[in-house]
Amino acid sequence: MKLIAATGNAHKLQEIRQILREYEILSAREAGFTGEVEETGKSFLENALLKARAVAHALRLPALADDSGLSVDALGGAPGIYSARYSGGGDRENRALLLKNLSGKEDRRAHFCCAVALVFPDGREYTAEGRTFGTILEEERGKNGFGYDPLFFSEDLQKSFAEATEEEKNAVSHRGRALMALKKQL
Ligand code: IMP
Repeated sequence: MKLIAATGNAHKLQEIRQILREYEILSAREAGFTGEVEETGKSFLENALLKARAVAHALRLPALADDSGLSVDALGGAPGIYSARYSGGGDRENRALLLKNLSGKEDRRAHFCCAVALVFPDGREYTAEGRTFGTILEEERGKNGFGYDPLFFSEDLQKSFAEATEEEKNAVSHRGRALMALKKQL
């Protein structure tokens, strides 16, 4: 089956392709989608559905979207759905702001959340969510991955996501778990 991934994030696309190996995955841009979808939802699931519906209806092809983020306990769940836009800059600035906001805090518990939505042009919709738990390190560790990976010490892997291989991360990550749960429904 051919699926269109409604994401412009090359790292997410790579992980989605790795996890859903049995599907042919094209990015929305590769498939000719030129629109911008505003993430106006109040939850990961609402935003994933917004993105998947927009692409599925525009291209008349099944579209898969992911919306994800990091929730830090001591920050009341922030940055949450605003993870990509936390600092107003890029990944590096987001990590710097997270470290600053957590400086001196003893409770470093955090989890990643991911919601995925698969929408077919005939209106059928499938959704799933995944979580993964860990703590926020005092400084960055590792060079792999993207986003907050160098600061996220995974409880499952006992190393940071940026120290893990792609296979190790996908086996326990929020995105891996959400996509595996979605796959079971298909
Ligand atoms: P989205 O494109 O609105 O879903 O933004 C997700 C943001 O959450 C990304 O830009 C990253 O900052 C963060 N994020 C989501 N998943 C991951 C991950 O697997 N590793 C590191 N950061 C992530």
